[in-house]
Amino acid sequence: MRLATFRHQGRESVGIVEDAWITDLEPIYGQPVTMLSVIDLGLEKLLTVADSLTGKSQTQRIPLEQVTLLAPIPRPRKNVFCVGRNYADHVKETGTTVIPEVPVFFTKAANTVIGPDMAIPKHPVTQQLDYEAELAVVISRNGCDIAEDTALSYVFGYTIVNDVTARDLQKRHNQWFKGKSLDRACPMGPVIVTADEIGDPQNLQVKTWVNGELRQAASTGEMLFSVASLISWLSQGYTLEAGDVIATGTPAGVGAGYDPGRFLEDGDLVEIEISRIGCLSNRVEAASTATTRDA
Ligand code: MG
Repeated sequence: MRLATFRHQGRESVGIVEDAWITDLEPIYGQPVTMLSVIDLGLEKLLTVADSLTGKSQTQRIPLEQVTLLAPIPRPRKNVFCVGRNYADHVKETGTTVIPEVPVFFTKAANTVIGPDMAIPKHPVTQQLDYEAELAVVISRNGCDIAEDTALSYVFGYTIVNDVTARDLQKRHNQWFKGKSLDRACPMGPVIVTADEIGDPQNLQVKTWVNGELRQAASTGEMLFSVASLISWLSQGYTLEAGDVIATGTPAGVGAGYDPGRFLEDGDLVEIEISRIGCLSNRVEAASTATTRDA
């Protein structure tokens, strides 16, 4: 099932995306819904709802072209968890030969999330704005000390995150938070695809184009720490909660990996495609125009 958060006629809701249509879940649940409330109400309820729709006339259907897709979770309850250096080729391009023995966790501020087609600002504070295509995991239920062999049962679904990074700030501030958390530095979407429809998360193709030029191309099978392993590691002594988002790291091909670096400029179009999920597209704009345009 493909789920999207959308705006239609001034109202925000969550719907099931099929072909060129989106089915609003609000009238079916009988209450206003957000992606977080849909997750909290449970995958079982969602599957029951989806079953009830099959074959019936669907008055709740809206043509996709009439809605604006927002980030699937426009404002996560807490920071977006991220993983650094999770693909060996990316580790190499960052100029180190040290392969991590445990996952490198950091976070991006929750209020950096933006949706598909929204502008990534080129803030004056950075001269090295970069893209990072990542498979992102959405957690379905609370869990602590999760074993790796049961970890995937905690996954609600998957989406795409662009872990937009100010490389100069990432280096200058030593700890990564500042360089990873400029306003609107976390494009997410366009949909969450439920875990049952993805199957094996280590068999997805990740690709990034900048202005139509292919920059990143890898399989999630190349991750140093699998999705299950990451959930297990992160949950040791720490309770992951329903709706938490984990971006699982980026493969080789980021702008900083080139010599000289190929960083994002005003007007650049970044398109990230992950098989079975879709394409997340965002254009870079001068900060002064980007921050007001989607308000
Ligand atoms: Mg990253």
